[in-house]
Amino acid sequence: MLLGCIADDLTGATDLSLMLSREGLRTVQTTSLPPGDLDLAEADAVVVALKSRTIPAAEAVAQSLAAADWLLAAGARRFFFKYCSTFDSTDEGNIGPVAAALMQRLGARFTIACPAFPATGRAIYQGHLFVNGVPLNESGMRDHPLTPMRDSDLRRVLQRQTAVKVGHVAYADVDAGPAAIAHAFEREQKAGRAIAIVDALTDAHLRAIGGAAASLTLVTGGSGVAIGLPAAYCDAGLIGALTPPPPAIAAPQGRAVILAGSCSAATRGQVEVAIKAGNPAFRIDPIAIAEGRLTPAQAIDWLDGQPGEAAPLVYSSDDPDSVRLVQDRLGRDHAGRIVEELLASVAAALPAHGFTRILVAGGETSGAVVNALGVKALSIGPEIDPGVPWTRSLSGPDVALALKSGNFGAPDFFLKAWRYLR
Ligand code: ADP
Repeated sequence: MLLGCIADDLTGATDLSLMLSREGLRTVQTTSLPPGDLDLAEADAVVVALKSRTIPAAEAVAQSLAAADWLLAAGARRFFFKYCSTFDSTDEGNIGPVAAALMQRLGARFTIACPAFPATGRAIYQGHLFVNGVPLNESGMRDHPLTPMRDSDLRRVLQRQTAVKVGHVAYADVDAGPAAIAHAFEREQKAGRAIAIVDALTDAHLRAIGGAAASLTLVTGGSGVAIGLPAAYCDAGLIGALTPPPPAIAAPQGRAVILAGSCSAATRGQVEVAIKAGNPAFRIDPIAIAEGRLTPAQAIDWLDGQPGEAAPLVYSSDDPDSVRLVQDRLGRDHAGRIVEELLASVAAALPAHGFTRILVAGGETSGAVVNALGVKALSIGPEIDPGVPWTRSLSGPDVALALKSGNFGAPDFFLKAWRYLR
């Protein structure tokens, strides 16, 4: 293993894993730490998914250092700290405190901070972050409930979070290519600035930054800046060869099933398309759970009775008005929790009932399902739609899992996903 990554949330970890895998690193993602007995002989990169974006800074630092220690012990020689491409943080942290603590622990005297991700509309110019063409502080992030971003100048944002001096590598150097960027890194470091915000407007810029950053012990940023690292590590002789991602993933023999706990528009559309296409469907009504009329055993019995042609679908997805009615009656948190618990109980029973190919819709729902299954690590397989790969469990029951963030995927996602399984 060469590259050890620490991501501040689960879907961000998947995003980074996919980027590394697409660019030629064999990547394993862990969903808890320590992930138990894990064979990393076939892995070039390991991405540890934390849930540290909005927890108190001291806790985020402690968890990140624990992840770094585990990655060091597992043999990592390069490290990546992944955060959101909109630099989600507050004046207290957690990007600055975690980056500074990792530098100290890893003995890194200089690192970069580059959340740019041109493919998703995030660009950095003269130190300012733009989201789909507008400054960060004028984007929707201005009013984020947990991390409102009111300043587009990342040099100022980061400097407020850390005592480490923040520098800048501007567009002109980045555009001049890897040698000029490496030179700028040296200039910043000599001037006593240990973390540099790096401008990037295009994937070509990110690849050039990757070329210059291959020698850095620690890189920090969004998944965008990881695009150039695999090739740069290969050129530098840090890994022998790049491995293209597999076109399909070998999945254990068994039945397929879809669990949908997301009420996002994309998921509701996918549910509708699957039902129209003839996939058998079982609707989870939160009120019925609350009144004791619906139990996990009923859903499992129903699944057992399905013929096994098209993947059966167990779903709680509903439109915003119906969700509001349920929330008014049960309370928002309680409604969410009982649905998640029911889907998690169903998930836990799946392997014993012969289901080994599991597609899950919903970010929180995915976390609950992975926990219930007892899966602590996943190998990353082919991408079904942007941002959603098939994965195979490396611990717990042997299953293929596709964990879809609610709003991801094309309308026919529930129908086409199975094509990528062998
Ligand atoms: P997304 O990725 O779309 O945000 P999540 O799984 O993260 O999906 O979150 C959806 C949340 O809504 C979960 O906590 C889930 O339990 C809850 N939920 C799902 N269906 C319903 C429903 N019919 N009524 C109320 N809450 C629901």
